[in-house]
Amino acid sequence: MAVGYGACKPAVAGIACPVSAVVRTMKSIREECGIAAIAANEGIARYLYYCLHALQHRGQEACGVVCFDGKKLHSHKNFGLVSDNFTPAVLNTLRGHVGAGHVRYSTQGGRDVTNIQPFAFSVPPFGLLTLAHNGNITNARVLRRTLEATGAIFRSSSDTEVCMHLLARAQGETLVARLREAMQQVKGAYALVLTAGDKIYGLRDPFGFRPLVIGKKQNLWVLASESCALDLIDAEFVREVRPAEIVQLDMQTGITSFVGTAKPSSFCAFELIYFARPDSLFADQEVYAVRKAIGERLASEDQDTQADVVIAVPDSGVPMAFGYGERAGLPVAAGFMRNHYVGRTFIHPDQQIRDFAVRLKLNPLPRSLKNQRVIVVDDSLVRGTTAKKILRVLRNRGVQAIHLRIGSPPITHSCFYGVDTPDRSQLIAAQQDTAQICRTLGADSLRYLSLPALHQALGDAGHCTACFTGNYREDIFQKIAKQPRDG
Ligand code: AMP
Repeated sequence: MAVGYGACKPAVAGIACPVSAVVRTMKSIREECGIAAIAANEGIARYLYYCLHALQHRGQEACGVVCFDGKKLHSHKNFGLVSDNFTPAVLNTLRGHVGAGHVRYSTQGGRDVTNIQPFAFSVPPFGLLTLAHNGNITNARVLRRTLEATGAIFRSSSDTEVCMHLLARAQGETLVARLREAMQQVKGAYALVLTAGDKIYGLRDPFGFRPLVIGKKQNLWVLASESCALDLIDAEFVREVRPAEIVQLDMQTGITSFVGTAKPSSFCAFELIYFARPDSLFADQEVYAVRKAIGERLASEDQDTQADVVIAVPDSGVPMAFGYGERAGLPVAAGFMRNHYVGRTFIHPDQQIRDFAVRLKLNPLPRSLKNQRVIVVDDSLVRGTTAKKILRVLRNRGVQAIHLRIGSPPITHSCFYGVDTPDRSQLIAAQQDTAQICRTLGADSLRYLSLPALHQALGDAGHCTACFTGNYREDIFQKIAKQPRDG
């Protein structure tokens, strides 16, 4: 396998990257990833490349592709961005008509090349398999300890490897039966893609926390975290993989579905608020439309605020600002210039770097906001880093009044299901009330979207909103949520 170490660039030019801090923090944070798999009658490396390119927003730390040509696996995995790693020369080495790909943010496993997915392994009599995972397995440590006690040797610290071992030990005539047995032992959030021979498989946990969609093109089947990946390769959106379902896709038989027992629908609300791309579709809704509806409801709940103009914190705040402006009858202006050559600021594990990265990424327009009363719309307040920085700069540019409006309720609880929210001691809304937060951030006023309004904007399908409520689907986290506030 062609696996190499990429140069670890300092996160911000001119500031040394404190590697120990990076490693330390990443060990305690959760996984945000994008996955894809393709089965075709022809070479697929380029299609996988484009899928991962479209999913790059889901993880920028590392990426990987493993293809199978019927005899051998061909693999390339590395730290860094998809477009930097998969040059035409690399793509030419990735031969095969079946394959899987992965983009990854920081994970439970930490920054280590052995944790870069997809993972390849062999399970007799099914041959060489590859596996890629998005989510967070909440009982991974316990499973791992049990597996190690019975002789399993782990090659990485990623919780995904647990699935490999469970699959290798499962009984059953078919791969689907073994997958079912293996995944019955796993708790938490997972969307998985697997390749075996000329087939690809996709599955989601019974709650359906994380997304996975099916696409089709002449001579090709594709699974991907989001439908925007299908658009880029001109594949038709077929449908989502359902919670607890296993789908098998191949060129001979098309889709075969193995239905499982689903639990109350719990698709992650944060996918729609922040994480997914606005041009992706979930439950027949465009993410853009959901964000715009959030903005409209934010304005409906905020009718007594006097303002001249609405501006967004790019990018997820943009459709929300449009919705707000439309409902409030206020003009929407481009308040900030976004530098697209900087990744998501939240991904920097060190606070000092995060602070500076916000400045690198966003700069307010120098003149047009002067003496204006401004509604600033952002999708979420996590640590408050982004808001604090940009509000200070707005103030320095002579903005008269700043009303911060957040397109989600206060985030008061950590996510255990795959979104990187820090522990409660770092969540500003878990530690301070609204008046204190206003002072900390330098806002004249602060309002959040209410939980009922969020539910209305998200539509009927059930969603996980545990980061706002502490109502987790698993008892163990319910107990943690009920503990007194930390910090
Ligand atoms: P913070 O600056 O810590 O308050 O984080 C909130 C900002 O980061 C908002 O502008 C969001 O768009 C963005 N954000 C929220 N959650 C995440 C996440 N899990 N990963 C990356 N960025 C996020």
